[in-house]
Amino acid sequence: MLDVKFSTNEDTHHCDAVLEGKWIVFTCSQCLDYRRKMHQETGEMITESTGNPEILHQGFYVQPRLQNFDASLS
Ligand SMILES: [Zn+2]
Repeated sequence: MLDVKFSTNEDTHHCDAVLEGKWIVFTCSQCLDYRRKMHQETGEMITESTGNPEILHQGFYVQPRLQNFDASLS
Protein backbone atom coordinates (compact mmCIF):
# COMPACT_ATOMS: atom_id res chain seq x y z
CA MET A 1 0.00 0.00 0.00
CA LEU A 2 1.34 3.37 -0.98
CA ASP A 3 -0.19 6.45 0.61
CA VAL A 4 1.38 9.62 -0.67
CA LYS A 5 0.80 13.21 0.35
CA PHE A 6 2.06 15.68 -2.22
CA SER A 7 1.56 18.91 -0.30
CA THR A 8 0.12 20.28 2.93
CA ASN A 9 -2.80 22.37 1.78
CA GLU A 10 -6.38 21.85 2.86
CA ASP A 11 -8.07 21.01 -0.39
CA THR A 12 -7.55 17.37 -1.17
CA HIS A 13 -7.89 15.60 -4.44
CA HIS A 14 -7.51 11.88 -4.58
CA CYS A 15 -5.38 10.81 -7.46
CA ASP A 16 -5.81 7.81 -9.64
CA ALA A 17 -2.78 5.57 -9.80
CA VAL A 18 -1.91 3.36 -12.70
CA LEU A 19 1.12 1.29 -13.45
CA GLU A 20 3.22 2.13 -16.49
CA GLY A 21 6.09 -0.31 -16.51
CA LYS A 22 8.03 0.25 -13.29
CA TRP A 23 6.35 3.60 -12.73
CA ILE A 24 3.28 4.34 -10.67
CA VAL A 25 1.61 7.26 -12.43
CA PHE A 26 -0.69 9.54 -10.47
CA THR A 27 -3.27 11.60 -12.26
CA CYS A 28 -6.17 13.66 -10.92
CA SER A 29 -9.66 13.34 -12.34
CA GLN A 30 -10.33 16.95 -11.35
CA CYS A 31 -7.07 18.46 -12.65
CA LEU A 32 -6.47 17.45 -16.20
CA ASP A 33 -2.98 18.94 -16.17
CA TYR A 34 -1.85 17.11 -13.03
CA ARG A 35 0.61 14.26 -13.38
CA ARG A 36 3.29 12.76 -11.17
CA LYS A 37 4.98 9.44 -11.22
CA MET A 38 7.04 7.37 -8.81
CA HIS A 39 9.41 4.56 -9.54
CA GLN A 40 8.31 1.39 -7.79
CA GLU A 41 11.78 0.21 -6.87
CA THR A 42 13.81 3.36 -6.28
CA GLY A 43 11.04 5.64 -5.01
CA GLU A 44 12.22 8.30 -7.44
CA MET A 45 9.50 10.91 -7.92
CA ILE A 46 9.07 12.85 -11.14
CA THR A 47 6.67 15.77 -11.32
CA GLU A 48 5.56 16.23 -14.88
CA SER A 49 2.85 18.75 -14.05
CA THR A 50 1.62 20.04 -10.70
CA GLY A 51 -1.67 21.54 -11.81
CA ASN A 52 -2.99 24.00 -9.23
CA PRO A 53 -0.38 24.26 -6.42
CA GLU A 54 -3.12 25.22 -3.93
CA ILE A 55 -4.60 21.75 -4.06
CA LEU A 56 -3.40 18.79 -2.04
CA HIS A 57 -3.05 15.72 -4.14
CA GLN A 58 -3.13 12.43 -2.36
CA GLY A 59 -2.13 9.37 -4.26
CA PHE A 60 -3.09 5.90 -3.22
CA TYR A 61 -1.83 2.79 -4.88
CA VAL A 62 -2.07 -0.81 -3.73
CA GLN A 63 0.86 -2.86 -4.84
CA PRO A 64 -0.16 -6.43 -5.53
CA ARG A 65 3.23 -8.06 -5.05
CA LEU A 66 5.67 -5.78 -3.31
CA GLN A 67 5.92 -5.09 0.38
CA ASN A 68 3.93 -2.20 1.73
CA PHE A 69 5.85 0.98 2.17
CA ASP A 70 5.26 4.63 2.93
CA ALA A 71 6.85 7.39 0.93
CA SER A 72 7.51 10.83 2.29
CA LEU A 73 7.68 13.36 -0.51
CA SER A 74 8.19 16.51 1.47
ZN1 LIG B 1 -6.57 17.67 -8.52
